[in-house]
Amino acid sequence: MKKTVLVTGGAGFIGSNFVYLLLEERPEWKVVCVDALTYAANIHTLNEALKNPNFVFYKEDIRNREGIFTIFEKEHPDIVVNFAAESHVDRSIENPGIFLETNILGTQVMLDACRKYGVERFHQVGTDEVYGDLPLDRPDLFFTEETPIHTSSPYSTSKASADLLVYAYHRTYGLPITVSRCSNNYGPYQFPEKLIPLMINNASHDKPLPVYGEGLNVRDWLYVKDHCYGILAVLEKGKVGEVYNLGGHNEKANIEIVKIILKELGKSESLITYVADRKGHDQRYAINPTKANRELGWSPTTMFVDGIKLTIQWYKEHMDWMAECTSGEYMNYYEQMYGNR
Ligand code: NAD
Repeated sequence: MKKTVLVTGGAGFIGSNFVYLLLEERPEWKVVCVDALTYAANIHTLNEALKNPNFVFYKEDIRNREGIFTIFEKEHPDIVVNFAAESHVDRSIENPGIFLETNILGTQVMLDACRKYGVERFHQVGTDEVYGDLPLDRPDLFFTEETPIHTSSPYSTSKASADLLVYAYHRTYGLPITVSRCSNNYGPYQFPEKLIPLMINNASHDKPLPVYGEGLNVRDWLYVKDHCYGILAVLEKGKVGEVYNLGGHNEKANIEIVKIILKELGKSESLITYVADRKGHDQRYAINPTKANRELGWSPTTMFVDGIKLTIQWYKEHMDWMAECTSGEYMNYYEQMYGNR
């Protein structure tokens, strides 16, 4: 059946992968992308989508109530998937304000638009970081949907607040919502401030690879396309009012990832440079995705060994895309974080 899906943050990493997945997997649907095109976006990411007649793009800020309401009046979305967010933990430590504005107040504007114009589903793209962290010496522990919210950074706190607001709109106003919480994603179109593309970019240019602390922090890595299939499964099979954890059972310490990248690129480990640890750095994230497996029939299909090769290959073939992202504001940020290395 034909549907109109409004995707916020669709010029960013996961949102753009989701746009492409919808255009491919649901060719009868119309995809409306709303993105403010912050530093984290690259409009060229959407070049192929922009050629598709089922795709429209609006440069708009989700905090702008009037602008968002106008788009709803024009497009009448059936489904809204809210990816738009400030997403980088380090930036939230430097400047929390914009995280609260976009991630909480922007989400409120989207929820209000959904209430006013009516939708069959509002889906909030959430993070496992809302559960806080797990100790490194307890590999038997995993986050489930019942794990208490216990955030560490301004980023995760803003995302947890948004999730709570989403429930509140369900409970108070009966808005048909779902929430997914995902572990760390990797794959094409990720902005090179994040671990994997940062390391690929630096190693490719024989620049030092800055690794926090001793690099022992563990993340549960999920190939972005698997995440996007998970969100589609929640939209089509998930129960209204429910949260679904999406994870890859692919736990790796940061230093392992860095060494895999260096090996794949044929570069020396002498490029690794240990830098002062991130403030309040979460030790380990690990998701138990049993509910999504059982209720949605979803499970990831990309093994990390394959996904990382696909990812490195993609960045090697898209160094021009990387260069667009790393020009301008990025260099100021990089120098502020890691010095002029
Ligand atoms: P990203 O930073 O790559 O992209 C965010 C996009 O949102 C950008 O295109 C940006 O321009 C847009 N945006 C930012 N502020 C906006 C605003 N005020 N109005 C409209 N658009 C705005 O982020 P990502 O990694 O693709 O993450 C997408 C979502 O998934 C986020 O909500 C994030 O919290 C969540 N998430 C990410 C991961 C991960 O590993 N990357 C894991 C779990 C959950």
